[in-house]
Amino acid sequence: MSEKKHHETIHGVACDVSGCKYNTIDYKCSANKISVQNERASTKGETYCSTFCPRGTCSD
Ligand code: SF4
Repeated sequence: MSEKKHHETIHGVACDVSGCKYNTIDYKCSANKISVQNERASTKGETYCSTFCPRGTCSD
């Protein structure tokens, strides 16, 4: 059975990263907050969510 559930989500944050523990069944983010990093980013692909946490690997 899917680990994904509905949680309180960050309003306005949609995310397709289904492998992240914070990603909900409707592809929103259920983290309390997120941090997007890479100060040298010049393209979308170079930005990344540092709050990302692979399912089953993070304890909090
Ligand atoms: S923590 Fe980042 S990668 Fe994970 S669901 Fe939220 S926005 Fe997506």
